Amino acid sequence: MHRGRRTPAQPTMAAALGGLRGLLAAAGRAAGPTRPWGLPVPLGPRLLQQSCHRPAGPQPSPEPGSRGLPEGVEYIPTRKKAKNPMKPVGVAWYCLYARTRLGYLLYRWQVKAAREQYPHGHSAPQPCCFPGVKILPIPVLSDNYSYLVIDTDSGQAAVIDPSDPLAVQAAIEEEGVMLEAILCTHKHWDHSGGNSAVRQQHGFCRVYGSALDAIPELTNPLADREKVSVGCLTFEALATPGHTVGHMVYVLDGEPFGCPPCLFSGDLLFLAGCGRLFEGSPETMLASLDVAVGLGEDTLLWPGHEYALECLDFATRLERDNPALEQKLRWVTRQRQENRSTCPSTLGEEQTYNPFLRTHRPELQAALGLQRGRGEHPDAFRARVLKELRRHKDLYKAT
Ligand SMILES: [Zn+2]
Repeated sequence: MHRGRRTPAQPTMAAALGGLRGLLAAAGRAAGPTRPWGLPVPLGPRLLQQSCHRPAGPQPSPEPGSRGLPEGVEYIPTRKKAKNPMKPVGVAWYCLYARTRLGYLLYRWQVKAAREQYPHGHSAPQPCCFPGVKILPIPVLSDNYSYLVIDTDSGQAAVIDPSDPLAVQAAIEEEGVMLEAILCTHKHWDHSGGNSAVRQQHGFCRVYGSALDAIPELTNPLADREKVSVGCLTFEALATPGHTVGHMVYVLDGEPFGCPPCLFSGDLLFLAGCGRLFEGSPETMLASLDVAVGLGEDTLLWPGHEYALECLDFATRLERDNPALEQKLRWVTRQRQENRSTCPSTLGEEQTYNPFLRTHRPELQAALGLQRGRGEHPDAFRARVLKELRRHKDLYKAT
């Protein structure tokens, strides 16, 4: 859930409530689904007798008392209204979505509507192949992406945020792989709602994520910087709170395959955008974005949503003389006209046009009418810039 601009398949509040009525009638069926999506019989496991290019190292254990958050990161829960950037109505709606059964029913309705509107997915994605690894974006719902990441030598795979289990299962079958792990970035239903059905299909499959985020079917809670191995693939989980308290991103180590690191960013970071601050302060979100930037400029960014056009359009209203931004907007416009996916970008190019990664830039600060106060710490000022930027984006309506 990001709550950006609505696309035709995304519900208005009234439509959502209308759809909920029908779904509520079927509430009993949806409560503890035994095969809620009518999935076919699972694939049989393939024999795996494969040695990795490079064995994964020992997994670090979480530091006691860290709560899975990076050092120095403050968690501001939603109930602290004075510090929460959302208005009370927004908080109430968010609580209904994130913490009650209504959110799950709304998600089911969104999946159904999106399947009807986009029977072949909202975008045409391009698989990304390196020697020994294949990354397959799977367009789901009206603008989400799941990702199937395959160790091509062993046929073992992990999926990031399997929102629509039918679409994910179709990709698994087409690729003929064995699903070993679900890596869940956060609890919002449009990222975690398929965990249960996918796991029922692949009972041996582990579900990873933060214990702070009430992730459905979680079997392997992760702490910050803990590693996950799937075949020869090694992912590092990074705690990146702000959008939700337990938000995590996953970084695939590309070194064994001679490819750049791959960041699966969920709702932390999008092409030219970032997620809304539902459960964290601007300071917390800024620290999380800095963690992403620290991964290096060649890192490939695989975001949780196809928001590129909207985010770039917003960015051009702030920075009217940025050649990198204009060039990316032209490219993204062409891609979207042909219904093609816009991912991946790199973290290096994101820093040239993504306003949420440019809070240190004087031109952006000037565009927002902000000046650093006397004695104000640079990071405190950047957090203030981020807060104002996020406020503008929340009010923004794409034309
Ligand atoms: Zn979300």
